[in-house]
Amino acid sequence: MFRSHNFSAGPSILPTEVLQKAQAELLDYKGTGSSIMELSHRGPEYIEVDAQATARLKSLMGLGDDFEVLFLQGGASTQFMMVPYNFLGEGKTANYLNTGTWSKKAIKEAKLFGKVHIGFSSEDENFGRVPANHEISHLEGAEYLHFTSNNTIFGTQYRSEPESNDIPLVCDASSDFLSREVDVKRYGMIYAGAQKNAGPAGVTIVIIRKDFLAKARTENVSTILSYPTHVGTMFNTPPVFGVYFFNLVLEWIENQGGIKAVEQANEAKAAHLYAEIDKDDFYRGTAHADSRSRMNVTFRLPSDDLEKQFVKEAAALHLDGLKGHRSVGGIRASIYNALPRASVDTLVDFMVAFRSKNG
Ligand SMILES: *Cc1c(COP(=O)(O)O)cnc(C)c1O
Repeated sequence: MFRSHNFSAGPSILPTEVLQKAQAELLDYKGTGSSIMELSHRGPEYIEVDAQATARLKSLMGLGDDFEVLFLQGGASTQFMMVPYNFLGEGKTANYLNTGTWSKKAIKEAKLFGKVHIGFSSEDENFGRVPANHEISHLEGAEYLHFTSNNTIFGTQYRSEPESNDIPLVCDASSDFLSREVDVKRYGMIYAGAQKNAGPAGVTIVIIRKDFLAKARTENVSTILSYPTHVGTMFNTPPVFGVYFFNLVLEWIENQGGIKAVEQANEAKAAHLYAEIDKDDFYRGTAHADSRSRMNVTFRLPSDDLEKQFVKEAAALHLDGLKGHRSVGGIRASIYNALPRASVDTLVDFMVAFRSKNG
């Protein structure tokens, strides 16, 4: 069986064992003679999958009964709109931290529904870092403070939750979801498109605290766009395959020893890669050292030509998906949960050889 060293930023590598399990169950899900995609979402098989995914997620993240878990569609981009649609309105303001392309898109949507206070922006520094707590400007009475925990394109990540002065945090965690432990009680909401770290594209995981949910606007709202519609019942057909696969990924995380174990493996992978980047000035990390992401490692080489050559020679060794996002250039190695340590080792070995040949 051939599997590449897949450093794609998204959709991204999934655990081989999980793909194999899905493959084995594909044609005949638990003796039904149908795949999970061909069964009613109101039937016992899917209901069990949905309940198991919710229970596993709650247990892995330590979410108590004060949280609801929703499986929605439309990607994180739809959440950029749904969050302010539900929680802003006339006279209401939210605080947004502007740390990259995805934050900017979230801010653009929020401005359609209410007032936006920009509590921090690193835009004039090409989004090379996230704020230290003392740099955040707070707004009393804000409905929520929105931040992007990991900036997929610029390779930056908060070390821990930003200070919010007791205002509920709302987090776009699309590219570091389930990669490390989080302090759940500080959040009103966490949302993530599954396709970076949690499953296939098509399901968006939304975790929402009940007392925060209670503040959602309920008058003159579109039914499908209102969070309360999706609580407790399946209002419409959920992305059944996505939820099924997400459940298998959660089982895989349990088998790794839980989120803490996955976090330790992620830290070791990132440390190995950054150590190579920091050895001399042939490779140059683009993010400030204290803002570096453990998920998307971005770096430059001495010239554009060398970067092109790097990507090409790497691909010949099946080190794939290393070309940086078009807005930053350079190299980006996305090293999500499912990327094996051996793939990082292979990349680092290649980097050593490439430097000695071209440095
Ligand atoms: C990829 C990504 C998005 C966009 O997600 P979609 O599911 O494609 O809408 C949003 N935020 C972050 C941090 C991302 O990495």
